[in-house]
Amino acid sequence: MMGPAHALSGAAVWLTGSWVAREYLHYGQSATTIAIGTAVCAGAALLPDLDLSGKVTANKGGALVAHSFGVFSLFVAEVVEKISLGIYNVTKMRHDPHRENGHRTFTHTLPFAVAMGALATWLASAFGRWAVIGILFVMFGFALRGLFHTWANRAGWLVITLLSGGAAYGAFLLLPKVNRGYEMIGLAVGVGCLVHLLGDALTRAGVPIFWPIPTGGKKMWRMVGMPNAISFDSGGKFETRFLAWVFAIVAFAAGIGLLSPAVLERLRSFGVGV
Ligand SMILES: [Zn+2]
Repeated sequence: MMGPAHALSGAAVWLTGSWVAREYLHYGQSATTIAIGTAVCAGAALLPDLDLSGKVTANKGGALVAHSFGVFSLFVAEVVEKISLGIYNVTKMRHDPHRENGHRTFTHTLPFAVAMGALATWLASAFGRWAVIGILFVMFGFALRGLFHTWANRAGWLVITLLSGGAAYGAFLLLPKVNRGYEMIGLAVGVGCLVHLLGDALTRAGVPIFWPIPTGGKKMWRMVGMPNAISFDSGGKFETRFLAWVFAIVAFAAGIGLLSPAVLERLRSFGVGV
């Protein structure tokens, strides 16, 4: 899948999960926490595509997400792609095909999603709100780039970086200094990566979801996707005209569901009979 559908699916899953947690598990969150979690999950839902680098010097090619912070993120994408290709070459078995680049390999596996979630959890427990602010800064940039890709292309990476800085500053002002379950950010990162894998698994090309368990004979990197009859192409009409809208509507509905008790409470306090 492409940027907008990935980012929207991340936001939809986090908002729906937060709503379910409040309704059925009595786990409520503040509006700030919900907003940060949603932005981080939407951004992390683009993180695995940081393995698609372009031409760093020319600022061209590569996945949307690799352009978020200009040459800085393009350089990181280049490194991630090379490391992924290295892991592929070291672990590939006899029937795994030769590869020229590392796209849709290591960063598209379950161990990667778990590792990113664990890393963010550790950062949050070690550095508290500073870790949350830092992670939000990066993920907010990814999410903007993914959601508004045509606008982001025109606006350029500097605007994206400034807006991400604004979001990080907002979190700095709003987050309490004492740790109030900041480790939750790890869950948002892990879930975002996982949602990305599921999204890509719906497409024709698929993802190596079983790695590092060898499946289907001498193959470590079996690409698992939907059968041709029900799969769709990345960035095709089904994705942009239907799926992305479904994710957007689900995210919107869950957002309304999460906000409505607070709004009703406010109206009641003004003496409006609702
Ligand atoms: Zn992908």
